[in-house]
Amino acid sequence: MNTQTKHIAIIGAGLVGSLLSIYLSRRGYRVSVFERRDDLRKDVRQQGRSINLALSARGIRALEEVGLAAEVRKLAVPMHGRMMHDRKGTLTFQPYGRQGQYINSISRAGLNGMLISKAEENNVRFFFNRRCTAVDLAGTSASFQSASGDLQTQTFDVVVGADGAFSAVRSAMQVTDRFDYSQEYLQHGYKELHIPAGKSGDHVMEKNALHIWPRESYMMIALPNTDGSFTCTLFFPFEGDLSFASLTDDDRIISFFKEVFPDALPLLAALTEEFNRNPTGSLVTVRCFPWVRNQTLLIGDAAHAIVPFYGQGMNAGFEDCRMLNVLLDQYAGNWPQALGTFQQMRKRDCDAISHLAYDNFVEMRDLVADPGFLLRKKIEAKIHELYPEKWIPLYSMVTFHDDISYWQAYTTGKKQEKIMDAVMSQPQISSRWQQLDFDKIVKELD
Ligand code: FAD
Repeated sequence: MNTQTKHIAIIGAGLVGSLLSIYLSRRGYRVSVFERRDDLRKDVRQQGRSINLALSARGIRALEEVGLAAEVRKLAVPMHGRMMHDRKGTLTFQPYGRQGQYINSISRAGLNGMLISKAEENNVRFFFNRRCTAVDLAGTSASFQSASGDLQTQTFDVVVGADGAFSAVRSAMQVTDRFDYSQEYLQHGYKELHIPAGKSGDHVMEKNALHIWPRESYMMIALPNTDGSFTCTLFFPFEGDLSFASLTDDDRIISFFKEVFPDALPLLAALTEEFNRNPTGSLVTVRCFPWVRNQTLLIGDAAHAIVPFYGQGMNAGFEDCRMLNVLLDQYAGNWPQALGTFQQMRKRDCDAISHLAYDNFVEMRDLVADPGFLLRKKIEAKIHELYPEKWIPLYSMVTFHDDISYWQAYTTGKKQEKIMDAVMSQPQISSRWQQLDFDKIVKELD
């Protein structure tokens, strides 16, 4: 098959669609990307509004394969652990992994814009303001509506739906026989707020940490930006006594922050303005299968949108791109074979990270402030230090090990959890944990 003549359409120029376009153009395909929105590189509304994401090993590996990791790292701020803020403003730092291990805070728009520019350098053609309105799965064609309302239909060799959690490509699949689909919203929504840089452009809190204000049934987090500011995200119930619905005026907003986030309040320079102006986002988990119909494929959030509490949605989507490329190598460019294996392999992995992300909400908002949980983490870190190859904590497997699949991490994590439950139930564990028989504990994993 002559790859030069194969024309691939990617629907969606988000993070995953843009990276995939680079992978596929490097393989010699003709790649066209159709994006509903305008080019974010010239969108003035994005300017000054920095929304950031945590990029970790899986995402970096995928960027590395196309030679972009070093450049991306320059745009990122390393975060070595969680900085917990209690109700009195007392801080506790908990490292994410071993010394030298960290995740990266990176601007979503900055990374997305860079990927689009790199793709263009690789001869990918971007068509902005083209909303995909329909996909014909039998004919591998897609219809697009331009900003002026014109409708155009084009036929391709392969169509990839990288159009996010509310995918139009997936909608076409949903009406086909035996297509499984579920979507589940959290009762919590999220709102972004901003902590500006200090007077001399410095960070006003510890720069190299992901800050968390865990408050049991809700939480706020803050990730550092390169310009000295932080982007905060409040995860909070939509409805109820204490909820977005109950914070109806400026006085209530301020007294709520004063009571529960007292150390953050003076740093949130435009709190009420931002709280009233910024939208409240919803958080959805999407599961579906199959991801492939004929020559049409779903990838990234379109196939597996997850809640953001493991910081893995983008990382999983980037890993999709890398794995698809590996399979195209393995099957010498035979798309039907590569796609068949891709969906079988990735479905299991992405279901695993979907469960882990859901469970991690409880850990982040509640357990990180719990002394028993912190002791458990300390004991696990000790076991990992003594047996670095045999016992890798779940968070590290997911975040720092691109060679351990999400599924492996999930199943090993479940075994470790059971072993640690038994360890933690031992009498006087907080004073006696140093005397544990660590060798015996590790052997229980076999
Ligand atoms: P999207 O980013 O949603 O991109 C889809 C693109 O398709 C968009 O540009 C959209 O405009 C376009 N599109 C949609 N419909 C059409 C259409 N009909 N026609 C044409 N174009 C269309 N992940 C991490 O790894 N780390 C994190 O720290 C992290 N934090 C997060 C925090 C929050 C609050 C949220 C909500 C998510 C977070 N994620 C994180 C998840 C991450 O944002 C997503 O997994 C990632 O953006 C998925 O990329 P995507 O390209 O698949 O989809």
